[in-house]
Amino acid sequence: MFDHVERFYQPTNLREALLLLRKVGKHGRIVAGATDIVTQGDRSTRFLVDITRVGSNYVRGNHRAYVIGATTTMAELEHSPVIRALAGGILAKAAATCGSIQNRNMATVGGNLANASPAADTAAVLLALDANVMVASSRRKRKIALDEFYSGPHQSTLNGELLTEIVIPSLPSGGRMGWSFQKLGRTETDISLVNVAAGLQADARGRIKWARLALGAVGPTPLRARNAEELLLGNALHEDLLTRVGESVMKEVSPISDSRASAEYRRDMSAVLVRRALRECAAQAGCRLSPPSGCVPR
Ligand SMILES: Cc1cc2nc3c(=O)[nH]c(=O)nc-3n(C[C@H](O)[C@H](O)[C@H](O)COP(=O)(O)OP(=O)(O)OC[C@H]3O[C@@H](n4cnc5c(N)ncnc54)[C@H](O)[C@@H]3O)c2cc1C
Repeated sequence: MFDHVERFYQPTNLREALLLLRKVGKHGRIVAGATDIVTQGDRSTRFLVDITRVGSNYVRGNHRAYVIGATTTMAELEHSPVIRALAGGILAKAAATCGSIQNRNMATVGGNLANASPAADTAAVLLALDANVMVASSRRKRKIALDEFYSGPHQSTLNGELLTEIVIPSLPSGGRMGWSFQKLGRTETDISLVNVAAGLQADARGRIKWARLALGAVGPTPLRARNAEELLLGNALHEDLLTRVGESVMKEVSPISDSRASAEYRRDMSAVLVRRALRECAAQAGCRLSPPSGCVPR
């Protein structure tokens, strides 16, 4: 409950929002779509600063980078032609799974990241895309690699700052690319028990040149499975390798048991979803998975 709120501000530009946040200090709380904050009321909040009118709903893309404004909603990401064309559309796919239509019309991508839930569906995808977040206060602006943004469950490096934009650098080019987003939840639109975002690039002989594997809901923060990524590099994909990658992922995750699933189930499903994701990537990259000959170009 926010039963000590004295004022609800609706700034109409970023500068005004940043000045307001400075003025209200630790008694203020940022509100975007309010789909998370609605369950997180606290008695110390005296001022709510609604940032949905500051003009940060946008998606821009060119050959160098993609930039997404923090208040872009999940529904906007889901339907954006730019986002659907980016990386096999995995960010659009992840956004499309974030709860009901009503939720997706309100929920923002900035809120999804700033809330710092280990299960946030866009976080795993944005980790796989090497995204950075731009954060600002009235005094300074910073760029933070998403990989360094999280410090624990519902904890980030934000220090009274506003997350303003997400920047996705240009992706590897040349070679054959494959992408996948996999989510396991109790229902189609429920929060993830495990989610996986994967990307890979294969060379002309089917060997993996570049790989990203990111997972959510299986550790204190969304995470990259770096050892598993290393196992992929330089190798053609084959079922034995997928098994080893899955085993590596199971060692890299540290899930908890809660009302939704046990830690053991989440750990097992991490490997299952990673293998599923890599098979989808392989198919997109035109690689055939066939032991013992491996990934042979079609
Ligand atoms: C029914 C339901 C189903 C859901 N299903 C899913 C799901 O499947 N997958 C999933 O990932 N999430 C899900 N969620 C969670 C939620 O919808 C998302 O995390 C959403 O993206 C949060 O964004 P918001 O704009 O609503 O954030 P808010 O609730 O407005 O804010 C969340 C937190 O982030 C802070 N904040 C917001 N924006 C910024 C910013 N730009 N800079 C700094 N701090 C900021 C707020 O102060 C608050 O602490 C679900 C929620 C509900 C209610």
